[in-house]
Amino acid sequence: MIKIFQNYPLKQSNSFGLDSIAHLFIETDDQKELLDALNTNNIDQNNLLLIGTGSNILLSVPNVGTVIHAVNTDITILEVSRDSVLIKCGAGLDWDEFVEWTVSHGYGGLENLSLIPGSVGAAPIQNIGAYGTEVAIWVESVSVIDLSTSRQFTLSRDECRFGYRDSLFKDPAYRSWLVWEVIFLLDKDPRVNLTYTLLKQEFSTGYQPDIKEVREAVIRIRRSKLPDPAEIGNAGSFFKNPVISACQARLLREQYPEMPTYYHDPGTVKIPAGWLIEQCGWKGFREGHVGVYPKQALVLVNYGSATAYEVLSLADRIVESVKKSFGIKLEMEIRVI
Ligand SMILES: Cc1cc2nc3c(=O)[nH]c(=O)nc-3n(C[C@H](O)[C@H](O)[C@H](O)COP(=O)(O)OP(=O)(O)OC[C@H]3O[C@@H](n4cnc5c(N)ncnc54)[C@H](O)[C@@H]3O)c2cc1C
Repeated sequence: MIKIFQNYPLKQSNSFGLDSIAHLFIETDDQKELLDALNTNNIDQNNLLLIGTGSNILLSVPNVGTVIHAVNTDITILEVSRDSVLIKCGAGLDWDEFVEWTVSHGYGGLENLSLIPGSVGAAPIQNIGAYGTEVAIWVESVSVIDLSTSRQFTLSRDECRFGYRDSLFKDPAYRSWLVWEVIFLLDKDPRVNLTYTLLKQEFSTGYQPDIKEVREAVIRIRRSKLPDPAEIGNAGSFFKNPVISACQARLLREQYPEMPTYYHDPGTVKIPAGWLIEQCGWKGFREGHVGVYPKQALVLVNYGSATAYEVLSLADRIVESVKKSFGIKLEMEIRVI
């Protein structure tokens, strides 16, 4: 079924709660109807905005053209082997509903990614990650429709070119590629992943939790640290954690011995952007309707009727001060539309 709305307000369709209007908003769980609608409504296929739940975007313009929102939510078990299970899921399903489903069926892998807001279709776009894992590890393939040509195809995990909060889908050249289904390869005999210290600390020494207990612990930690977008507008981590050379990190460590670093690729380390922002004194900062979340400096928040301009101005000031103090340039994790 397809629904087409004209002049559709997007305030409820982005977790920052910013105002913008879609000239056309198309919601569908049917590929053929979608392609027919795009052809018959004379839509500029090169100027489409594909969105899930809008939890990783910042709408900076008052009007966007045509928004496409997939709402296909079917889960299908494709294949079961001795150790693993292949599962196909529609792009429109709520990510955490899918994680809950996998955990309740005893399929392991995604439990550390519990409670991340968003849709299944958006998960591969920035290769969502948290608490010691990222979705790329569990994605077998992604099925896509190129809305500019109506071509349908499947990309293997390698073809998706996943990186840290990155994938091929982020390349502006592929903005007309609608992720329609994601195929996951999960463990039938799950081994829990407690590599993330904060998560490990939730359990007493020596205790071996199951994936359900890991999911519950992740949810507990996330609720204690992150603002609920239903209450305070935000898009989660505003900036990526910067990756710098091991050599630059060593020099910074001489000045800031307490600076946390995490191993990335050989010769590079990742620094928590939240720590850098906090050191520059921004944690808990508030001006008008915008601010930096008091419990997590990586999250910029909309306390009421903030504009995109206010959010971006604050982001600019943060980037500038981190650059000045640490010589590190923060990059945005969210997509500015
Ligand atoms: C409180 C909070 C906590 C968060 N925590 C984390 C975290 O721990 N780890 C993490 O990685 N992220 C986190 N995020 C970011 C966000 O949840 C993820 O990026 C999520 O995958 C976005 O899903 P969405 O459906 O809302 O995507 P949207 O925001 O709607 O879109 C994001 C991008 O994906 C594209 N897109 C969306 N759907 C499709 C589709 N079907 N086909 C093609 N392109 C599409 C959009 O064009 C856009 O470029 C958090 C956000 C919030 C608000």
